[in-house]
Amino acid sequence: EEFCRKLPKVELHAHLNTSFSMTFLNELLRKSGNLNGVSLEDLHLAEAKPLAEGFAIFSKLHQVFRTEETIYQLTHSVIREFAEDNVKYLELRSTPKHIPETGLTRDIYMQTMVRAVQDCQKEGVDITVRLLVSIDRRQGVEVAKIAVDLAERWMKSTQGLVIGMDFSGDPKVGDASDYIPVFLDAARRGLKLSLHLAEIPLYKETKKVLQACCGHCVLRIGHGTFLHRYESNQGHEEIEDLVVQWKIPIEACVTSNILSKTVNGPGSHHFWYWHRKQHPVILCTDGKGVFGCLLSDEYYRVAKEFSLGREDLVSMALSTFDSIFESDDLKQRLRDILRSFCEKEQ
Ligand code: IMP
Repeated sequence: EEFCRKLPKVELHAHLNTSFSMTFLNELLRKSGNLNGVSLEDLHLAEAKPLAEGFAIFSKLHQVFRTEETIYQLTHSVIREFAEDNVKYLELRSTPKHIPETGLTRDIYMQTMVRAVQDCQKEGVDITVRLLVSIDRRQGVEVAKIAVDLAERWMKSTQGLVIGMDFSGDPKVGDASDYIPVFLDAARRGLKLSLHLAEIPLYKETKKVLQACCGHCVLRIGHGTFLHRYESNQGHEEIEDLVVQWKIPIEACVTSNILSKTVNGPGSHHFWYWHRKQHPVILCTDGKGVFGCLLSDEYYRVAKEFSLGREDLVSMALSTFDSIFESDDLKQRLRDILRSFCEKEQ
């Protein structure tokens, strides 16, 4: 457990609003007296519940984090907490909110997140952070286009601190393939894409998006629970073929998937399927607050389930560096950090 905590790691799938810590929420509650009518117990999944229950929690969180000040504090604390867990590189994603009652605009939302990242940097927090702008599939294609404009503008004005887009939201709402032109446009503008795909068995949209985007976008897949060949997805083998052919990294959120009941237990998680194939797969938290897991907990959980030793964990961490949306230089820096960690541990 201690080894997993000390191991230098990268976190590539973390949603800002679901990544709070209980310490942070308690402090917020102490300072402001209440959480806009939401109780602490309502904000995390203590036991496995269907996916829809998770989305009910996300709405409550959006009632709590509604002002520039709370978004700043949340971003700042989330970054510090990942750094304390020895995450050396973090791609943090969030849906910019427009909340007229509190004066929050999407632009101020971005500015606030960027300010928190820069302040952490100035304070010497030992982590490199990049931001992804989320598209919420419940909000439709027009809002998605606004998000791409916003991301491009902030990518340019921050010299790449904003690095790409995330596509997420309730998979039961809308059709991901409606967003293909938006994805291609974002990629043309130099934005990297992490798309929630196949979180539930939606073969048609998954296939269409992959057929259109592979080869045109720098791409990773969030969750990807139903990408691989298994008994009940006959006729959809092309999905796995595309993922393999284009070597698309998969962000595997083990605890999140189990608590959202899209996967039965750690032993049946698709992480293992892809890992055994030596396909790029990265352990991620998704929302360390809602799902109550640190990234080191995820490594430990997988190590225990599949009897992995220290060397396996080190090579697993090493293999994740290739999937970051950053330069080869930064990848090399991460490898150097891992190498000196191993030397110290010997
Ligand atoms: P935010 O974008 O910082 O507000 O983070 C919360 C949002 O992330 C939710 O409202 C969803 O749109 C998205 N999200 C978080 N977890 C999941 C998931 O497991 N599946 C799909 N979308 C998710």
